[in-house]
Amino acid sequence: MLFDFHTHTFLTDGVLLPIELIRRAIANGATAIAITDHVSASNYEFIIDALVADCRLAEKHWDIRAIAGVELTHVPAEAVAEMAREVRARGAELVVLHGETPAEPVAPGTNLAGVSCRDVDILAHPGAIDAEIASLAARNDVFLELSAHVGHCLANGSVARWARETGARLLVDSDAHLPEEVLTEEMARKVAAGAGLDGEEQKQALLLNPERLLRRIEERTNRA
Ligand SMILES: [Zn+2]
Ligand SMILES: [Zn+2]
Repeated sequence: MLFDFHTHTFLTDGVLLPIELIRRAIANGATAIAITDHVSASNYEFIIDALVADCRLAEKHWDIRAIAGVELTHVPAEAVAEMAREVRARGAELVVLHGETPAEPVAPGTNLAGVSCRDVDILAHPGAIDAEIASLAARNDVFLELSAHVGHCLANGSVARWARETGARLLVDSDAHLPEEVLTEEMARKVAAGAGLDGEEQKQALLLNPERLLRRIEERTNRA
């Protein structure tokens, strides 16, 4: 079983067409893949409509759960909740928030806004976090991401540590932009093990938490 809830296409800064990304995920054995191109107020309508079209095309003909999501990216922290509502209303099936990665100058307060907002499903690559962020993520059922992506992955150890302390739920995502970054089971396991997760914690992050998120998406979109 292989799940990936954070990927990009050439609709923003990736290189693959959405349907090719889905095809490559299937070739790697994926059960479900979410496409989550970068959005803000400027482009979310176009991106969501385009992703829904290829996700439905893929699901009609192939055995894959394809999820049309977004990654709210460098949105002002004060606007995260409102933007999350707007993208949902437009049809986004999954809302990822681009967290305070050590690799980019993300606005301080973005992590706090994300874990405080029930319209955010995943706080991506949150960087070095603390007990407050992880506790709120646990309370509001916002998943925290362990990232396979270079740069973003520098803080996976902090994310794993505080998730363990607080009961926050972890996921492993690729944040793939290139064909060679499309997730494999081997890479997902390496990311989880490299963040220090033990066997039971790896099962949570790689299987049980993704299944929980998938159920949430299916209940929300009435496509169970
Ligand atoms: Zn990107
Ligand atoms: Zn991303």
